[in-house]
Amino acid sequence: MASTTPSSSSSSSKLCFNSDCKDFKSDRPKKGWRLRTGDLAQLCDRCGSAFEEGRFCDIFHANASGWRNCETCRKRIHCGCIVSSNTFVLLDPGGIECFTCARKNIILVGFSIVVRKCVPLPPLSGLEPSCNV
Ligand SMILES: [Zn+2]
Ligand SMILES: [Zn+2]
Ligand SMILES: [Zn+2]
Repeated sequence: MASTTPSSSSSSSKLCFNSDCKDFKSDRPKKGWRLRTGDLAQLCDRCGSAFEEGRFCDIFHANASGWRNCETCRKRIHCGCIVSSNTFVLLDPGGIECFTCARKNIILVGFSIVVRKCVPLPPLSGLEPSCNV
């Protein structure tokens, strides 16, 4: 009597999510970008590390279209794919900015709002220009 245990586990899901990579994921796959389903892509160690270091597109999409440069630091960003879709912002006048620069600018904008509150008092009041921020 042959007792056949049905082992119909989907073996394809053991592969790295990166379609350019034929490696198998480890038991504890690395987390990648957010998928449209809301899940995170599961990657092999190599792809996962590349993603964590922000080099995933540099390595796997180097010849793809959609590369643009950050207007501030000129860093190359692959705007043409989901992997990098969270690493840049679209600028109002056109162009893009990497998230690092965008975050700096957000702080600057906040600062200028603070500065604008420090309006010098008119001389008639006899008070020195003051800023109590
Ligand atoms: Zn991989
Ligand atoms: Zn890419
Ligand atoms: Zn930048």
